Amino acid sequence: ELQNETYDFIFKVVVCGDSGVGKSSLIKRFTDESFSLDLKPTIGVEFATKTIRLEGGSVLKAQLWDTAGQERYRAVAQSYYRGAVGAMLVYDTTFGSSFDKIGYWLDELEKHCPEAVVMLVGNKTDLADIRAVSIERGLGFAKEHSLLFVEASAKSATGVEDAFVQLLSTIHSQS
Ligand code: GDP
Repeated sequence: ELQNETYDFIFKVVVCGDSGVGKSSLIKRFTDESFSLDLKPTIGVEFATKTIRLEGGSVLKAQLWDTAGQERYRAVAQSYYRGAVGAMLVYDTTFGSSFDKIGYWLDELEKHCPEAVVMLVGNKTDLADIRAVSIERGLGFAKEHSLLFVEASAKSATGVEDAFVQLLSTIHSQS
């Protein structure tokens, strides 16, 4: 984690998916001790930031937006998606209906931020005993829609850094 506020690029990344899949937990895991949650009560969204240095030396500041539970009771506000260059689309590998909903979330992304690079994330792999969605199904959906794909566990930290860094590097390489 870089301490100063100097960076070469700033990227807005939205984290979507059904309520309870682990969006907030993934953001918290990645942003770690540097966690800074800015509550924006007027628009009902929250974001946290993390600055990373890529292998080539570029310093990226990621602004990670959380839906803050809006998806529970109404559609996510348009302002949430505005200006996003990346998206993490999360489902819960132990909960099949959260996987069935990723098509809906992908449609929302294509409608509101069609240029965004999308990383599909199957979260909660630590709960192997109650897995409901195979890695092949996740991979199949990702291939079909040309998305990046990682399985992860916010709880055990597996795959989380990989998911965010792959997404940010891809955005960077395309910008
Ligand atoms: P959100 O509604 O998508 O933001 O989901 P949260 O981050 O609030 O997580 C919902 C619930 O799932 C919470 O009880 C979390 O502790 C739990 N959770 C999140 N990620 C994981 C994970 O990787 N493994 C396990 N076992 N539980 C998780």
